[in-house]
Amino acid sequence: MNVLRSLKELDQFVFEKKQMGKQIGFVPTMGFLHAGHISLIHLSNQQSDITIASIYVNPSQFNDVNDFNKYPKNEEADLKLLKANFCDAVFIPEKAQIDSLQKVSIDLGGLDNIMEGICRPGHFQGVVEVVYRLFSVVMPDKAFFGEKDFQQLQIIKKMVETLNLPVEIIGAPILREPNGLAMSSRNSRLSKEARENTGFIYEVLKSFVKTEKHILEKRLFELGFKLEYLEKHDFGGQKRLFIAGVYDGVRLIDNIELN
Ligand code: AMP
Repeated sequence: MNVLRSLKELDQFVFEKKQMGKQIGFVPTMGFLHAGHISLIHLSNQQSDITIASIYVNPSQFNDVNDFNKYPKNEEADLKLLKANFCDAVFIPEKAQIDSLQKVSIDLGGLDNIMEGICRPGHFQGVVEVVYRLFSVVMPDKAFFGEKDFQQLQIIKKMVETLNLPVEIIGAPILREPNGLAMSSRNSRLSKEARENTGFIYEVLKSFVKTEKHILEKRLFELGFKLEYLEKHDFGGQKRLFIAGVYDGVRLIDNIELN
């Protein structure tokens, strides 16, 4: 696996592969990788000739500096996991390199005025900024994003459509821990006991259709979950239920499809 730490190394790698007519699949991440990230690597391997992952904790998408400072890191373990799962290259840039790239700011058509957009002001413009910059240098044919961050996935699709970028955006299902908790790098910040208890989040999502909302809100409150939102939204005919809140000091999000 190629570990690319500079734009020059990345440019050269991408240029060579493009010259050989290879299709590039891209999996952007913030590192501290788990099986959810790896499922995206597998999908990219199936659908592309070459898979490039990136590891970059983007400061501009954190509305809370504390959350940014506490974001978990383990580059050695990440590299092992990517290599073991046949990722061809990983781009690990420094902030200055990302900052040197051209950025965009686009109208997200209200997609950023709901849920995460309200709870994390500026978050999605930060996401758009960094994903656009990464796309401009990785130049992928396809890019893979998890439905765990469903609103983000819609925003990336909107960006690609608005700017008419030549990349196909592919969404992938949420991978869960055995108790139903959606896998997330932030889960490592939960205490062992809290992590074991978190199965109730998925249970609440699943029981939404047959239980009154205020009863679920009361249950979440009693369990010590500080609810930020529990909302239904329709994205292009696809109805989903979304939840976000803080448990054991850690902010968690999840969603399911409603049928
Ligand atoms: P992150 O490192 O949290 O920025 O996530 C990088 C990518 O992995 C994003 O597209 C996420 O939506 C995706 N991802 C994170 N957690 C999961 C999960 N549990 N299942 C599937 N994809 C995930």
